[in-house]
Amino acid sequence: MIPIAKPFLDKEEAQSAYDTIMSGWVAQGERVEEFEGKFREYTGAKYSVAVSNCTNALHLAMIVSGIKAGDEVICPSMSYIATANSVLYTGAKPVFAEVSQLDYNTDPEHVKKLISEKTKALLLVHQIGMPADIEAFKKICKDNNLKLIEDAACAIGSEYKGEKIGVHSELVCFSFHPRKVITTGEGGMITTYNEEYYKRLKLLRQHAISISGKERHTSEELSFEDHLETGYNYRMTDIQAAIGIKQLEKLDKIIEERRKIAEKYIDGLSGTDCIKLPTEPEDRKSNYQSFAIYLKKNSPVSRNELMKKLLAAGISVRKGVMTSHRESAYINSGEKIKLPVSEDLCDNSFMIPLYVPMDQRDTDYIIETIRKILS
Ligand SMILES: *Cc1c(COP(=O)(O)O)cnc(C)c1O
Repeated sequence: MIPIAKPFLDKEEAQSAYDTIMSGWVAQGERVEEFEGKFREYTGAKYSVAVSNCTNALHLAMIVSGIKAGDEVICPSMSYIATANSVLYTGAKPVFAEVSQLDYNTDPEHVKKLISEKTKALLLVHQIGMPADIEAFKKICKDNNLKLIEDAACAIGSEYKGEKIGVHSELVCFSFHPRKVITTGEGGMITTYNEEYYKRLKLLRQHAISISGKERHTSEELSFEDHLETGYNYRMTDIQAAIGIKQLEKLDKIIEERRKIAEKYIDGLSGTDCIKLPTEPEDRKSNYQSFAIYLKKNSPVSRNELMKKLLAAGISVRKGVMTSHRESAYINSGEKIKLPVSEDLCDNSFMIPLYVPMDQRDTDYIIETIRKILS
């Protein structure tokens, strides 16, 4: 069976985790700081705050943006459910925007129509690694006095107008879940160029404690801490960070390989007229966190039949990006929401295996099998 994804981990990560364990300091400490520094170097961001996962990163981004009960935050429904959930955690309401047929990213025209007096922020997702048109959304946010938060869970190393995702807006959240391009088991990072946000994020991730565990541990004087506001335990461990440091060193190589595989898929499948393949706008570069194919109405088989056939041929597949508004957790709110483009993309697209390193015979076989089924 060819898996859908596979983390690129080896002895270096294992050794790094081992060394950290043997050091005797395993909770948030120097390795986390080092990982944050390497992450800033990589993305070009001014500040970075490591946390336990991207869902929590998004939650903290909401809090420092001042989102609270009664507010509305516009975000796509078509995203992993963590996007919308992070809004709900604050008591605010996620208002679902439609996405574009072209790149699965949020549709700016629909966003404009959804803005109300209650709207406080826009949560922008870079869909499966393909950057959204950040400038267009920055303008909408500026014109309407909204905060902009980027859900870049899948977009580490992706580029917009020649710069890495992480530098374009005030709050950008990343994930290191094994399904993403690099992993720390579980993990997340927030980048910002706002110093106030940076300081508050660092506090909020550890119960807003005035003195960190590491500071107290190394202090020669007696010191007592204060808890400055209601915070959270959203800390990353030094073991995770030790893995992340090694993963970051490989990231450029991983992305280069992923892009080669994506190009090969596009080359090999572009002759098949009943599918739509990913297209990369001129000013953007995707890390191809996933490779999604849309099945047009003229396909000789349905999406689910195609997925069954691929599975039977030993090729793991997944359905297109989920829609949150059709999940029980959201249906139960009773609100009737229709998002035809998102629903169509979710129901008629599928994802094929893409990971590094990938055997060339496997990619050839996948292309050949899809072409055969669709001919
Ligand atoms: C994976 C993902 C998340 C959640 O990331 P975790 O690190 O698993 O919490 C959030 N948003 C999007 C778009 C994702 O793909």
